[in-house]
Amino acid sequence: MAFESLTERLQNAIGKLRRKGKISEADVKEVMREIRLAFLEADVNFGVVKDFVKTVRERAIGAEVLESLTPAQQIVKIVNEELVKVMGEEAVSLNKSPKIPTIIMMVGLQGAGKTTTASKLAVKLKKEQHARPLMIAADVYRPAAIEQLKTLGQDNDLPVFDMGTDVSPVKIVEEGLKVAQENKNDYVFIDTAGRLQIDEKLMQELADIEKLAQPTEILLTVDAMTGQNATEVAQGFNEQLNITGIVLTKLDGDTRGGAALSIRAVTGKPIKFIGQGEKMNQLDTFYPDRMASRILG
Ligand code: GDP
Repeated sequence: MAFESLTERLQNAIGKLRRKGKISEADVKEVMREIRLAFLEADVNFGVVKDFVKTVRERAIGAEVLESLTPAQQIVKIVNEELVKVMGEEAVSLNKSPKIPTIIMMVGLQGAGKTTTASKLAVKLKKEQHARPLMIAADVYRPAAIEQLKTLGQDNDLPVFDMGTDVSPVKIVEEGLKVAQENKNDYVFIDTAGRLQIDEKLMQELADIEKLAQPTEILLTVDAMTGQNATEVAQGFNEQLNITGIVLTKLDGDTRGGAALSIRAVTGKPIKFIGQGEKMNQLDTFYPDRMASRILG
């Protein structure tokens, strides 16, 4: 499961302090060295680790910890607080447009989980708000992607608008939005194409769709299993599109967890949801404090 080895290493590092009564500055330095290594091994971005360790160290060599009778607990508390800070403090909810429809554009690399996440989110909105979403299939490069969305649509009673693969994605979105207006759908999900890596043509196409649709929300879906690379990908998309939120998928897998810790700090954009399985109900709101507790074990 995600974070298992990170959690274990952090617990080991801090556990050494538990056996001591009082601790010295040298003890703090030693534990911070171990924490630093644990994060780097979990594939957390180097700059994020550096800042994090510096902040925790500075707080930990303060009198309140060194003179405390329970220094290990104090350090856990500081690490926990700083983890929450790095991940954005509060849960951030989905943006909602003052007038319908709220348009949610899904972007990300191929296989990151865009189509699955769009469907999960649509199902969630239906359940929680009795929403009436329309899904637009704009990934024209992979016929399988359109079929996948249609299948998910059928299984979950979600209407899907598509025009096959011979029409440009911008045109599909334009026509899809007209249908949404006519049908008074309150949410529209635009499922866009992804590539194996970021390229100019993909970005231009996404920028064109953004310009036309003026989405309320551009959700970047990234695969947590890709660790450091997920953070780089997020940075790339964030430079070219007005990303409003991030969805971290596959946190149920054997991930090293680094992406959850780095992405917010590197992009400045909130993680809004996490995917924890392939099933439609396995999408959760991202709570920084819960994630910090999960990491600390
Ligand atoms: P897209 O190419 O970005 O649209 O990605 P898909 O939605 O097709 O997802 C790619 C694969 O990842 C599919 O097999 C999904 O079932 C799977 N997937 C998506 N989200 C999650 C998740 O949170 N956990 C797990 N385990 N698998 C996921």
